[in-house]
Amino acid sequence: MQERNRIVVKVGTSTVCHPNGAPNLRRLEKLCRTISDLNNTGHEIILVTSGAIGVGTRKMGLSHRPATISGRQAAAAIGQCELMSIYDRLFMDYGSLSGQILLTKDITEDETGKQNVIATLRALLEMKAVPIVNENDSVATEEIVYGDNDTLSAVVAIFAEADVLVILSDIEGLYDSDPASNPDAKLISIVRDYDKAHQAASGSHSEHGTGGMITKIHAASIAREAGIPTVLASGTDPAILYDICDGVPAGTLFTVEGENE
Ligand code: GLU
Repeated sequence: MQERNRIVVKVGTSTVCHPNGAPNLRRLEKLCRTISDLNNTGHEIILVTSGAIGVGTRKMGLSHRPATISGRQAAAAIGQCELMSIYDRLFMDYGSLSGQILLTKDITEDETGKQNVIATLRALLEMKAVPIVNENDSVATEEIVYGDNDTLSAVVAIFAEADVLVILSDIEGLYDSDPASNPDAKLISIVRDYDKAHQAASGSHSEHGTGGMITKIHAASIAREAGIPTVLASGTDPAILYDICDGVPAGTLFTVEGENE
């Protein structure tokens, strides 16, 4: 078992928010407590969080995400404030500093900007602060949008030279068939062949069953290029991060060549 010290943790909207878009305070509280506790034992955690548009939509009193791009960008602007205010308070409660970094996709092509982000991440980690990253949804246009934080989290893992990328989602991991339609579907604990995993996920008929699985496998492939393994696990109980840090099997591990299992 290999201990993992520097970890990028991505939490999706379904982990951070209730189905009605309101922030899931119980879960956020546990997430911040676990991350702060891991920080206290010398781990370095970078949080990539979604939820800005969901939280903003609800705060604007709307029952659905705005249909227009500018409406969603406004929702993100409102929701990002709310989200950061919650994270800041919770991390403060547990004695951790946190700081916000909002990125757009063009950062990978802008060498100076990229080096600045890398330096900021390093500086935050050196002062034991938790960097909290999201896409800058209010600025991103069609040409420079990640659109999903799975891909963004893989880019952040590479910038941060993380030991592991952890994607916490509303599904336990990757299944050999769609668990929504097949009660005998089995969780795959280790993925070595990413193409095969991709095919399995594309073969699923249920949107719910795959749960955005393709973008997660894509993110794992990007991380693997840099030698970073990915763990896909359920975000229902954020305490799962303790196991992942200790190298204890959890969810699905997308392994990289040469990693000890
Ligand atoms: N950046 C979007 C948000 O904060 C989420 C993107 C995603 O769902 O991956 O609402």
